[in-house]
Amino acid sequence: MDNGKPARAADRIGGDPVRWLASATKRQFERAALKEGPLDREHSILGRVEQSYLRHILFRDVEQARCSLCGRRLPVGLLIAAHVKPRSECSRRERLDVENIVFSLCLLGCDALYERGLVAVGKGGLILISTAQSSRTLNAVLSRFEGRKCAAWNAAKARYFSWHLARRYQGAKLDL
Ligand SMILES: [Zn+2]
Repeated sequence: MDNGKPARAADRIGGDPVRWLASATKRQFERAALKEGPLDREHSILGRVEQSYLRHILFRDVEQARCSLCGRRLPVGLLIAAHVKPRSECSRRERLDVENIVFSLCLLGCDALYERGLVAVGKGGLILISTAQSSRTLNAVLSRFEGRKCAAWNAAKARYFSWHLARRYQGAKLDL
């Protein structure tokens, strides 16, 4: 730890406490980011180094921040630095594009909905929802995103959102 501060966020994932490293250095981050293959962001050491650095870029030292999809303001312990384009599909250069490759997503649902392609982000940041789900409960959750815009969308991130939309989104792409 270069600043000597203890990790602040003691989160629990799967019942186990996850202590994010206080601040991974850029050098530590690059070593982790260049590792090929999927990294478990909560449990593998390199995954935690990478996530710690990306969290620092996104959240700095704030206590609370907004989820880019649902817009809820939450303690940062309930937010993750999520890859816009899945990490496993990113080139080395893309994994190092720290300003653009991640956005904040909450652990109250948006992380899973985005990862599973039940929501995606279209042109101009409009949130698209996959409405043809058999679960009424899920449809009700998804309907809350109708008409919303993703706060993290910008021109530099657009190609990463487009990749996710083209390859992971489960909904109709008629209006694109
Ligand atoms: Zn959210």
